[in-house]
Amino acid sequence: MAYRDEKLSEEKVFKDPVHRYVHVRDRVIWDLIGTAEFQRLRRIKQLGTSYLTFHGAEHSRFNHSLGVYEIVRRIIENFQDRPHWNAEERLLSLCAALLHDLGHGPFSHSFEKVFKLDHEDFTQAILLGDTEVNRILNRVEKGFPKKVADVINKTYENKLVVSVISSQIDADRMDYLQRDAYFTGVSYGHFDMERILRVMRPMEDQVVVKESGMHAVEDYIMSRYQMYWQVYFHPVTRSAEVILTKILHRAKELYEEGYTFKLDPVHFMSFFRGQPTLKEYLALDEAVVLYYFQTWMEEDDGVLSDLCQRFVNRRLFKYIEFNPNAQMNEWMELYKLFTKAGLNPDYYLVVDSSSDLPYDFYRPGEEGERLPIHLLQPNGELKELSRLSDIVESISGKKRTDHKLYIPLDLLEDMSNRSKTKKRIMEILFG
Ligand code: CA
Repeated sequence: MAYRDEKLSEEKVFKDPVHRYVHVRDRVIWDLIGTAEFQRLRRIKQLGTSYLTFHGAEHSRFNHSLGVYEIVRRIIENFQDRPHWNAEERLLSLCAALLHDLGHGPFSHSFEKVFKLDHEDFTQAILLGDTEVNRILNRVEKGFPKKVADVINKTYENKLVVSVISSQIDADRMDYLQRDAYFTGVSYGHFDMERILRVMRPMEDQVVVKESGMHAVEDYIMSRYQMYWQVYFHPVTRSAEVILTKILHRAKELYEEGYTFKLDPVHFMSFFRGQPTLKEYLALDEAVVLYYFQTWMEEDDGVLSDLCQRFVNRRLFKYIEFNPNAQMNEWMELYKLFTKAGLNPDYYLVVDSSSDLPYDFYRPGEEGERLPIHLLQPNGELKELSRLSDIVESISGKKRTDHKLYIPLDLLEDMSNRSKTKKRIMEILFG
């Protein structure tokens, strides 16, 4: 029997707190889960620094990837005998679902920002490079790794397959919303996925939802909206992320100045230089990063050691509302005052802005163009969701941005009350 059709003699199941069970019958999927590159995802948390806000949020990208695979498996099961669905695309869809986040590194957002990397490039590199994953995909069929890479990259010719994995209502989002809600313990993020799966239909170039499922879809869109503001953009999580980003900045800056670290940061060298190889990239997981942060707590450089202690022991920066566009003068004065007070403003005075677009209708040609959700009406016509749903219409295409200013309030409070600099800083910050 061809490798691509091989089934395990007995179905394997993973217990999963969100989907109850994840079912594996295909030999290929089982082999992919066993690769070093996929197992590495156990050591990358799904929500980065969120565990410092929601202590339950320790789940990994491994959990999430299995979850996305399971949702796609169920979607395809429902598609089986429907028009437009090509059964030949089954294994490809399952592999793309399982492997879509393969290139994520530790604390992706901060690492990508500081070292100018892109996890999507690394996903492609793992699929196409000299890896265990690549060897397995190649056994399926020559050119198969490239197909999987194209689906994940959204360039695959069959757009129906692409939209199952990534669109505004895809398996990725449906898994992470429920999973992140479960592990953070918040009451948002829940919606009736069973209902949505039952009313999803394959069309020529996209997945659509029967109109009768509109309210379940509305609930899903609202869940996503709530999760962004209540969980993903939580100001405390962002405080930890600001500190993490500044640690990486500082370490890189010290390296460039020729500073001698007490422990050679071997795992970071290629990142500091800006061009980690695939092997070097894969060797840096969150356990390794946290190990360095622990050792850097003892460094002679005051900024690096202070920031690492803050991260490791959760002594986070405090925040206030602050719009840098409207408060330019205050910003400039604070910058000078911080310098005067001996607090390096490049590390201790940080503005962070987060924004989200909860749902978007179709804007052809615009940046970040996203396929909208289409409802299938009883007469067979398709209608874009926000044209039928008032609830979705009210948040469609509206980008919301939140600005915060992060500061080490403890260090400011430690300054003498007679200091004029302190008085003025406090005045600007708290009025
Ligand atoms: Ca994902």
